[in-house]
Amino acid sequence: MKSVSNYSVRTLNTFSVEANCPEIYYPASVDELKVLSQQLSKPFYVLGEGSNTLFVDSQTPVLIKPNLTGIEISEDDEHYYVSAAASENWHQLVCHCVDNGINGLENLALIPGSVGAAPVQNIGAYGTELSDYCCSVNWFEFSSGTLQSLSASQCQFSYRNSIFKQALKNSGIITKVTLCLPKKWQPNLSYHGLNQLSTDVTAKHVMKEVMKLRRSKLPDPDQIPNAGSFFKNPIVSQAQFEKLKEDFNDIPYYLQNDRKVKLAAGWLIEQAGLKGYRTQGVGVHDKQALVLVNYNSKHGRDIINLAKYIQACVYEKFGVSLQPEVRMVTQLGESTWDAIVNHG
Ligand code: NAP
Repeated sequence: MKSVSNYSVRTLNTFSVEANCPEIYYPASVDELKVLSQQLSKPFYVLGEGSNTLFVDSQTPVLIKPNLTGIEISEDDEHYYVSAAASENWHQLVCHCVDNGINGLENLALIPGSVGAAPVQNIGAYGTELSDYCCSVNWFEFSSGTLQSLSASQCQFSYRNSIFKQALKNSGIITKVTLCLPKKWQPNLSYHGLNQLSTDVTAKHVMKEVMKLRRSKLPDPDQIPNAGSFFKNPIVSQAQFEKLKEDFNDIPYYLQNDRKVKLAAGWLIEQAGLKGYRTQGVGVHDKQALVLVNYNSKHGRDIINLAKYIQACVYEKFGVSLQPEVRMVTQLGESTWDAIVNHG
């Protein structure tokens, strides 16, 4: 199996921060994963395209960057079944499907990252989530060296969350994702930006609009390094929301099924006066305050310090605690935000 020692990860993360990786492995088959599972000593971290990862220290743990490719499509009377290997690029898969008349993923166009990363945080955009179409995920477990198939319900999908971020965190690798896309298709035009489209629009047209919207607001990591939304949209109780609404009459909000209320993290950051804010070579994007950008820093810690500052400002103004969506990786492996904030 291909592996490299003492590797700089600067080109392997879309924040473009510098860190040295002691050893990086590129397993290209389940057989190679089996070999790796026998020689692996913790800590390690599984890396996709590095578009949702922040390397915090100047050293990383051992990295595993799978190189598993291939797309298979089958169908029955009512559905298409799309099985894509983990290292396929997500956006390319969306384009491949929509170009071939397989509709449903168009609202998820241009989300950066690999197919294997998609179930981990249950990627979502414009009212569609991966969990709407995911029927199973193949999972290689390191401790037993076995390949398992998890049904969608076993994946425990919720808002930007899944079992892969919880009980199965860093214990294996997603090797393949199978999607089930109904042939009977209806566009999802519920979000602002798409709701002006006519209901007889095609999936290709929706995809084009989503791409236009994203490109108009979100910085291209090749030009300004970033990892998309840095924080999750906070979900608060009805009581907390009522109180906020008294003080901030124009606060955007979205009622959830469980009577909780979703707030827009980008709006909170903007209202705290931080849109466009810059410090230590990093900053808050000037078009979309939810995106933190790296202008010219080499250090993940600069992003952490900025995120801490934003969290404190938003908490002071609104009493709402923002939580990162981006995964934090220290020298010792993946860490939690609280551990990083509390223990440096
Ligand atoms: P926006 O229109 O400025 O809205 C701000 C937030 O409000 C969004 O994050 C979205 O939450 C929520 N929202 C808007 N309309 C909603 C509706 N009709 N029902 C429920 N919630 C609604 O959002 P934006 O920043 O341009 O993003 C548009 C979409 O792209 C969002 O779905 C966003 O999640 C997605 N996006 C994802 C990333 C990423 O890195 N994961 C980056 C950029 C954009 P939700 O995020 O829960 O949908």
